[in-house]
Amino acid sequence: MNNKIILPQSMEGQTVLVAGAAGFVPSTLCEFYLNLGANVIGIDNFITGSPSNIELLSSYKNFEFHENNIYEKLPSFKDQKIDFILSMASPASPIDFSIIPIEIMRVNSEGTLKLLELARDKKARFLEASTSEVYGDPEIHPQTEDYVGHVNPIGPRSCYDESKRFAEAMTMSFYHKYNVDTRIVRIFNTYGPRMRPNDGRVIPNFITQALRGENLTIYGDGSQTRSYCYSTDLVNAIHNVLMSQDPTPFNCGNPDEYTIKETAELIIKILNSKSGLTFLPLPKDDPKRRRPNIEKLQKISDYEPLVSFEEGIRMTADFFKNSL
Ligand code: UDP
Repeated sequence: MNNKIILPQSMEGQTVLVAGAAGFVPSTLCEFYLNLGANVIGIDNFITGSPSNIELLSSYKNFEFHENNIYEKLPSFKDQKIDFILSMASPASPIDFSIIPIEIMRVNSEGTLKLLELARDKKARFLEASTSEVYGDPEIHPQTEDYVGHVNPIGPRSCYDESKRFAEAMTMSFYHKYNVDTRIVRIFNTYGPRMRPNDGRVIPNFITQALRGENLTIYGDGSQTRSYCYSTDLVNAIHNVLMSQDPTPFNCGNPDEYTIKETAELIIKILNSKSGLTFLPLPKDDPKRRRPNIEKLQKISDYEPLVSFEEGIRMTADFFKNSL
């Protein structure tokens, strides 16, 4: 018997609140739910999100937007029905970690708390967008959800890693203590259109450098690995978890793994670029290997990443060409 999740064909009449709606992944998710007919409420303070992502969503009549800092005070949603609350408001690029560490810790702690209280009040289903960073520099490979991690609590990535671990703990506490209907996704490296070209992460850096004919900057010797998921595949994975009945964490990503050097060489080849490579020092605590084991999600759903690396890089490069 196939007892996998049956995804709804329409979400008409349902209201989805997305915290962090101007971000790259959350805005892609907003559009996905708007296209399923849902009413979507977006919140963002534009600390790292792009106003252009909100402009794009504003063309949908079912989209409502609040410019708001969720860790200070949420807008009042008195008398408003909310069915789903997606907690996606944290800056997530390593370049943000040294610039806005306190804001990152506050949004993942005080911000998540406020969203969970709202979910309790509205009897809404709550989803925490957690991260592969909860595994730190992992000692097991690929990473499974039962691995408890190897995180440096005082390192340069700790503001993000530890506050997301806290957000997961708070989510489970609301589940156990108040029976809030919660879900947790652990998102692995994701890329696609709508990313900031100057985001600092490896794919936007390499694509913009390749398009400009500049050398691609490899940190360390490039032997560290990552596994890249195209944004629409990630949205599909998150939607499957949201529609599941399981409150425990699910890895979401694409398990195809590349070294950083391979990533650079492939991007140069796909974009037919004349760029070379420059080797720079490896940042402290940079995880050596990262690859999601996605069997847990695949046991309960038909999730399969569909977009190849080559296709995804071309579509992302087309987006960046307009903003260079
Ligand atoms: N990286 C790199 N060159 C860049 C940007 C990143 O070699 O211009 C490396 C970085 O050191 C890391 C990997 O690429 O090993 C992925 O970095 P990213 O910032 O995308 O995110 P992370 O997975 O580390 O959170």
